[in-house]
Amino acid sequence: MNRLFSALLILTVAGAAAAHSNPFFAPSPLPFHAPQFDKIKDSDFKPALEEGMKRQLAEIDAIANRADAPTFANTIEAMERSGDLLTRTAKVFVALNQANTNETLQKVDGEEAPKLAAHNDAIFLNPKLFARVKALYDARESSGLDAESKFLLERYHRNFVRAGALLNDADKTRLRALNQAESKLNTEFHDHVLADTNAAAIAIDDKSMLAGMSDADVAAAAEAAKERGMEGKWVLVVRNTTQQPQLASLQNPELRKRLLAASENRGRHGGPNDTRGIVVRVAKIRAERAKLLGYPNWAAYVLDDQMAKTPANAFKLMTDLVAGSTKKARQDAARMQKVASHPIAAADWELYAEKVRKAQYALDDAQVKPYLSLDRVLQDGIFYAANQLYGITFKERHDLPVYHPDVKVYDVLDADGKPLAIWYADYYARPSKSGGAWEDTFVDQSGLLGNHPVVYNVANYTKPGPGQPSLLSFDDVTTTFHEFGHALHAMFSNVKYPTFSGTATPRDFVEMPSQFNEHWALDPAVFANYAKHYQSGAAMPQELVDKIKRSRTFDQGYALTEYLAAALLDMAWHTLPADAPMQDAVAFEKAALRRYHIAMPQVPPRYHTTYFSHIWNGGYSAGYYAYLWSEVIDDDAFYWFKAHGGMTRANGQRFRDMVLSRGGTTPAAEMYKAFAGHEPSVEPLLIERGLKEAPSDSKVNH
Ligand SMILES: [Zn+2]
Repeated sequence: MNRLFSALLILTVAGAAAAHSNPFFAPSPLPFHAPQFDKIKDSDFKPALEEGMKRQLAEIDAIANRADAPTFANTIEAMERSGDLLTRTAKVFVALNQANTNETLQKVDGEEAPKLAAHNDAIFLNPKLFARVKALYDARESSGLDAESKFLLERYHRNFVRAGALLNDADKTRLRALNQAESKLNTEFHDHVLADTNAAAIAIDDKSMLAGMSDADVAAAAEAAKERGMEGKWVLVVRNTTQQPQLASLQNPELRKRLLAASENRGRHGGPNDTRGIVVRVAKIRAERAKLLGYPNWAAYVLDDQMAKTPANAFKLMTDLVAGSTKKARQDAARMQKVASHPIAAADWELYAEKVRKAQYALDDAQVKPYLSLDRVLQDGIFYAANQLYGITFKERHDLPVYHPDVKVYDVLDADGKPLAIWYADYYARPSKSGGAWEDTFVDQSGLLGNHPVVYNVANYTKPGPGQPSLLSFDDVTTTFHEFGHALHAMFSNVKYPTFSGTATPRDFVEMPSQFNEHWALDPAVFANYAKHYQSGAAMPQELVDKIKRSRTFDQGYALTEYLAAALLDMAWHTLPADAPMQDAVAFEKAALRRYHIAMPQVPPRYHTTYFSHIWNGGYSAGYYAYLWSEVIDDDAFYWFKAHGGMTRANGQRFRDMVLSRGGTTPAAEMYKAFAGHEPSVEPLLIERGLKEAPSDSKVNH
């Protein structure tokens, strides 16, 4: 016991000493307050997060307990200024825990997430503070506030009400307990999925099993084995989604089945990483929280604050597309079956889709990839398009510290040459990184705080073997444009209040700028600029370009069906009422897919329930439909560009001024209508998805 005590004492002393040199305790002296990754230690997070909460709570208490009457400046603006230490620390912590985690960070997350949930409740359930907000809100029409400030006041009032400020004390206590319970489960889910996804990787002893894979992919599999201490073997790493890219080339049917099964069984095969129990409890907690707050289910609560407004509206957009989407998938399956001479199972789909592309469009993915090197896609594709549209330029810099050697840093310069933002790119997969791709910020732009955007993109592309280039599939190219679209939204942000900065829009609008940016990947001028052979630099032969275009809508049935299955599953989980019994996760999923006529054994959901991170710990609960909702708008916006001369600086500037720079300062529907001059129509989406023919004169009328 004595020994334990002294060990604790040493830890405490070390913790106290570290506080003096903790790099989070003062704003970073680096350009735009970029994080000091060369100084930050894992042990800095816990004390900085806890001190950050303490300081913000003191600031909040001071606001709530003021003797003078509430004003916008002494209440709302003061809240916007509060919590700088906490924000600074939490942003870096979230980034690292997602992109480069370890046991220490996961432990901090497990300990601090419930405290952060309680901290949030301490602010939004503070009755004195809410009384001040409410007094201002009630007098808002005669306040003389400018539009952005008035909208912020309304936002605050809404946030308080949605967080439970109107509840009685007993219900507030119950709400706090639910928030605590959920935050613990979110963290558990995150850790279990990461561990089970790593554990799902398949080690291969016999190279002949890999027949069909390109030399570059085999080299990457050998490298993945080496990283895991299995030199001389090959490791097939499992990606985030149900479908796995290696299934497009692996010839061995047994190995294909094994790989898909390893992916699909994540979280539902027993053992320490099972998530079935977690997800049903999270669904139950959310339904109970919704009920407390006066909504029939969690989806109704979430959507009340989104463009879609009601679950019925989101359901309608999706269910209207089910018949067309599954029909197209079945037609494609029939074409594949002719090539295969046997029925197409899910594990065969990608391979035979490739064969049909080869046979009917003479398009071979292996021919395409050498023209899609990550470097060129970035420099000559993404940066080029952003320059043509918005006038910005990029310059890699090597003087800023990074958290992993694979991370690159760029200065983003505005059209007049002035620094606009700093952008980090972290593109390669590693076991310490969560699956998928995302964008977030280290620092949000804010006029009030004088902050400039410091933004990052993360992805999980296969790290090439030594000396090899990173060659992308066209899907990966699209993902890179997508995440960069979010980054542009953050970089162009030109708002006063941090609450409205960059991507702080309704979630069913936030995918609009990102999906809009995807369109430029296939713009003829952009494509010709980046699709060049990684060795010779030769342009992609026109014949190959034409093949890509001709085959574009092929396999859209699969893509849309797997998406709709996942999005409907999300809504099914989150429209459960609070009094529904605890579910069996797997049985519930099966029944839900059948109910919405989207159950196709050959086309499993893009994510099964047990590893659907978007909805269980990624902030997309009752929100996976948002990609489709945003797609209606981004396709409409792209057709607006087409109708107005395409990729011009003038069009780009209009889009930047009226949409990308506005963050959450204006209701999204109004903002879009002001830009386009009309409400978005679903027609462009149907054409882009191949569910409808383009008008013969190829002009689109709205
Ligand atoms: Zn996105």
